Amino acid sequence: MESLATQNVRIFNSLNGIKEDFTPINKKSVGMYVCGPTVYSKVHLGNCRTFISFDIVYRYLKFLGYKVRYVRNITDAGHLENDADEGEDRIAKKARIEEIEPMEVVQKYTVDFHQTLTKFNTLPPSIEPTATGHIVEQIEVIKQILEAGFAYEIDGSVYFDVIKFNKTSTYGKLSGRKLEDMIHNTRETSGQSEKQNPQDFALWKRAQPEHIMRWPSPWSDGFPGWHLECTAMSTKYLGNQFDIHGGGMDLKFPHHECEIAQGEAISSQTPAKFWVHANMLTLNGKKMAKSTGNNILPDEIFDGSNSIMKRAFSPAVTRFFMLQAHYRSVLDISNDAMVASEKGFSKLMQAVVLSNTVETSAVTTDFDVLNWKQKCYDAMNDDFNTPILIANLFDAVKFIQNLQGGRATISENDLKTLNSTLHDFVTNVLGLVNEEENDNDNYLNGAMSLLIELRNDARNRKDFETSDKIRDALHNVGIELKDGSQDTTYTLRK
Ligand code: AMP
Ligand code: ZN
Repeated sequence: MESLATQNVRIFNSLNGIKEDFTPINKKSVGMYVCGPTVYSKVHLGNCRTFISFDIVYRYLKFLGYKVRYVRNITDAGHLENDADEGEDRIAKKARIEEIEPMEVVQKYTVDFHQTLTKFNTLPPSIEPTATGHIVEQIEVIKQILEAGFAYEIDGSVYFDVIKFNKTSTYGKLSGRKLEDMIHNTRETSGQSEKQNPQDFALWKRAQPEHIMRWPSPWSDGFPGWHLECTAMSTKYLGNQFDIHGGGMDLKFPHHECEIAQGEAISSQTPAKFWVHANMLTLNGKKMAKSTGNNILPDEIFDGSNSIMKRAFSPAVTRFFMLQAHYRSVLDISNDAMVASEKGFSKLMQAVVLSNTVETSAVTTDFDVLNWKQKCYDAMNDDFNTPILIANLFDAVKFIQNLQGGRATISENDLKTLNSTLHDFVTNVLGLVNEEENDNDNYLNGAMSLLIELRNDARNRKDFETSDKIRDALHNVGIELKDGSQDTTYTLRK
């Protein structure tokens, strides 16, 4: 681990569009909040890209020695269709369609989310709070906003007063939108909505009779507005102002803009110092999205069951593919891009393995290892630039190949530095695992082909006692042998 003092991290801040020096509010502790998924369906690869992007931020800051509290919420209530203030709750709708309890929907897709992110080797956050677990806190935030005079109640619902807020603050500062333009571009909706002004947004909604997800409150039996949960949970676990707030680019407006307004209304402070936005994964040039059907699920990549890829690609290759682009660039996925990533990934992993077996020779090294090491840090210090880091790692790959081919030399000390730096950046920072080394199936396949061969030898010798012993012993541990006309295969009894 590097001493914090030697590395100067700069992060692009969406609030002002500038890369700024990152100095945490509390010296060595970092507070980071990232908007999590709405758990009403399986996460697609686009969602995963955003969570992998913030996994990199988390990993690198931890790697530098910061104590990071990473809060990523689960949205399990309040997120209505079309991100609107009217309509059906996404989770309740899914529960109605599947004829199950809303909390069964939440459980099913939260488990799927965790399993998927584990396959991608992302680290779990420090706290993963849910919206339904923080209704009391959300009601408290509404009370504070009402007290501050930035909200009003109408018939059991409470709305944030954007016009009033904009008189003393700037609504739109994150997305660069101007309230006057928003008002000008909004068609007359009088009579259709109870809001005083179309830009206002819901903090609490009175539940219609058919709305099953509801809680008691001072205003009505109802449910919180979507933007509120993130304010309630981020302030509870990270304070009124913390270091980093993240999410996908598409959350800038209205979600993060409304979070800023809510935060400033209760504390006069912008909730986070750095607003970080991950760019979109696209498919056929269009944003991957649940609603349009233009998406691939992670498992469809891992088992090849999709119409875009010609075959399956592993989670580590998919992660590597994503990290080859900077998190603020749009990234388009295609079969050719995945094939190229697979090649690159395999070359990198082979070099990592090779680097442990190369021999040191002379006192001289034909590669400036210390300079290369700092270039790896520089890439990550520069707004987490993973593609530049990977390019630097490939400089080392080339050198390792030269070492292996006897075309270069390295001293013992330099080899130590090279190996530990490679390991640090590939494994700890980028979170890439060598699947060939970790794949238990490979071990099992190897052991089983030996056992099948020994059994066939025994049968050929007419030593049926031995061949039956092998078959029965395997059967007892749940492995069934199947003798075909050409060869013997095995299956695992489930
Ligand atoms: P949701 O569950 O829809 O709230 O989305 C969870 C996260 O995924 C949010 O941070 C979104 O901004 C992000 N996201 C959604 N679509 C994409 C995409 N195509 N590429 C990258 N991130 C996305
Ligand atoms: Zn959020």
